[in-house]
Amino acid sequence: MKNIAPIYITKPFLPPFEEFNEGLKRIWNSRMLTNFGPLYTELLSCLKNYLQVENLSLVVNGHQALEIAISALQLSGEVITTPFTFASTTHAIVRSGLEPVFCDIRMDNYNIDESKIEALITNKTSAILPVHVFGTPCNVEAIDSIAKQYGIKVIYDAAHAFGVKIGDRGIGSFGDITMFSFHATKVYNTIEGGALAFSNKELARDIYLRQDFGIANSEEVLLPGTNAKMNEFQALMGLLNLKYIDQEIINRQKKVELYRHHLRAIPGIKLLSNNIENLRENCAYFPIVVTEDYGLTRNELALMLQKHNIFPRKYFYPLTMDYACYRGKYRGETPTARYIADRVLCLPIWGEIDSEVIDYICGIISDLYNSYGLA
Ligand SMILES: *Cc1c(COP(=O)(O)O)cnc(C)c1O
Repeated sequence: MKNIAPIYITKPFLPPFEEFNEGLKRIWNSRMLTNFGPLYTELLSCLKNYLQVENLSLVVNGHQALEIAISALQLSGEVITTPFTFASTTHAIVRSGLEPVFCDIRMDNYNIDESKIEALITNKTSAILPVHVFGTPCNVEAIDSIAKQYGIKVIYDAAHAFGVKIGDRGIGSFGDITMFSFHATKVYNTIEGGALAFSNKELARDIYLRQDFGIANSEEVLLPGTNAKMNEFQALMGLLNLKYIDQEIINRQKKVELYRHHLRAIPGIKLLSNNIENLRENCAYFPIVVTEDYGLTRNELALMLQKHNIFPRKYFYPLTMDYACYRGKYRGETPTARYIADRVLCLPIWGEIDSEVIDYICGIISDLYNSYGLA
């Protein structure tokens, strides 16, 4: 494959243009553009069913959803979280006036290391905010039981984990609240968008008030809420994309198998291992970790791929705790997170990526090992 067009880490999923065009008529007919209209209501019920959660609210984006979750649970003081994540997770804690406390991650699946959480709990801790990184579930049973034992809350950042299930349990049915992101680059999108799944149905009103200025009725405003409503155009995209999501996930699973087949035997290329029983994966990302045996560093490999017009991403480097705005400010020793952040590289993946492109990428990775590998 010579002179291929640039390949980025993902390509947003879109339904057939005619379907969106046709769907717009519903919005023109209702003249309801936002504020919990008929498409919002329909999508809410479809997603509750798809995600297998009892209570759900749809939000304008995942980040706002996370801030609303923190506010609805009235957290205070410190929140134990992972630094191996997208900016949003840590920003949501800090923007809410709380202090992140950084817990190290596991070497096998890069999620928060549940065995290190308890040692970080103080009398100021109000919650744990783990991330199901790359769509792999955290050890939800252990985390939920620690939280129960100490009387603190759990908010899961499931931005990567749409459609993931453990057995027949939706990933959003754990903890107090789970946030999903429906951003364009995620497995399932509503252009921008997000949702909160929650265990206690009383939270529905707390969440609703916070996403619509705290307005209870035409004469009563109960709290200084924000504006974070999902609009009808987003809901339309969501309804259409939902028709294709199962096929999209099957397609992704095949692409992941192909990557694994090619890369499995290359020394120094470590693949994600998530040996959770009865796991329905969504194959949101394809991370590799480049170790010393490979002969080139992660950065060198990324540069070589770029020369071939392949643009993988260093998710997640740097750790959020190392951002200029956070460096040195918060508690937490995270050697494993640092090790992974320095070596991780997410390769391009989406449902319809050409198998030949994957063959091509893996061929480059393999050839480079043959030239530089240490073994
Ligand atoms: C995408 C993402 C978010 C934020 O979601 P948006 O819908 O883009 O606001 C939060 N956390 C993680 C881990 C993400 O990847």
